[in-house]
Amino acid sequence: MPDSATATVACPFCETLNRVDLSRLDQHPKCGNCGRPILLDRPLAVADANFAQITTDTTVPVVVDFYADWCGPCKMMAPLLDDVAHRRAGELLVLKLDTDRNPVTQQRFGVRGIPTLIAFRGGKEVARRVGAVPPAELDAFLSGI
Ligand SMILES: [Zn+2]
Repeated sequence: MPDSATATVACPFCETLNRVDLSRLDQHPKCGNCGRPILLDRPLAVADANFAQITTDTTVPVVVDFYADWCGPCKMMAPLLDDVAHRRAGELLVLKLDTDRNPVTQQRFGVRGIPTLIAFRGGKEVARRVGAVPPAELDAFLSGI
């Protein structure tokens, strides 16, 4: 892990971007704007408007779940990603992008089928997996990024 492991994330309550020191998650980071807790042990929403900044300004690997509310396989993946976010909080950042609401990012990365998982490092794509994956394959994907 780099010595300054930080993640930039949008506050789930007010959408303000916050830079979080991942080595100090045990001190319960709070949003600089609204003061509510920023919890990184679950997937956080990302949108067209903040996608570039969040993926570029986060020093740990970022995994983005491209999904839609109507997508059955996406619903099957959701608890697996919840679990990954919980187990690996501080080591990697798990984000979810609603493709219906964020077509710009979906098109930019040529995402046609959902769910699609794309892993980023320093804002650059390093791996991609299309379709729902069982837990063992998800772990294998994550260990390769
Ligand atoms: Zn806030």
